[in-house]
Amino acid sequence: MRIGILALQGDFVEHEKALARLGVKSVEVRLPQHLEAVDGLIIPGGESTTIGRLAERWHLLEPIRSFAQSGHPLWGTCAGMILMAKRLVNGVPGQPLLSLMDITVVRNAFGRQVDSFETDLTVPALGEPPFPAVFIRAPLIKHVGEEVEILAQLNAETVVAVQQGNLLATAFHPELTEDDRFHRYFAGISEQLAVHNMINRRVSLHLSQRRKDRM
Ligand code: GLN
Repeated sequence: MRIGILALQGDFVEHEKALARLGVKSVEVRLPQHLEAVDGLIIPGGESTTIGRLAERWHLLEPIRSFAQSGHPLWGTCAGMILMAKRLVNGVPGQPLLSLMDITVVRNAFGRQVDSFETDLTVPALGEPPFPAVFIRAPLIKHVGEEVEILAQLNAETVVAVQQGNLLATAFHPELTEDDRFHRYFAGISEQLAVHNMINRRVSLHLSQRRKDRM
């Protein structure tokens, strides 16, 4: 199994290091054909307008959309989460989005006074202890659709981690901590789907072989 990391701008190297600590192979994705070699994709934090524009310029938006729509796991952290949202508040007019998750995201939601902060976050899917969540000019999730599962929130109105099937989004930066549980969680989803897809390919190969044998 290999996990791709969108390497256009932002802290993709930190994601590579976190995956390496877990013994998971990663591939830097800069062109559409790089997606063919990976089982999942991480979109890192950085500046969503820049990542979006570069992805548009390198004709990556549509291939990433099809990659996700065909069931491959995608995980966006911070700016990556902004790119994955269907609805964006406080965006720059015309900023390119992947528009994949049924969430409304507010960009730069914490204002200038609390630009960056770290907090212990309860994430039931990861168990104990709480996760050390690093927020940097972070977005928050204001509204989630029916199919979206909330993984963590700061308070009743502030959702900061969600999952919608194969799509995972966190408003904070797990790659900037030593705690690898979110990377392990995402690698787990990617592994399951990689095995599932391999079995499907084998079954359909076997069936088409049998069809040929009968002819
Ligand atoms: N504020 C940034 C944006 O709008 C996101 C910040 C981050 O990724 N740390 O893209």
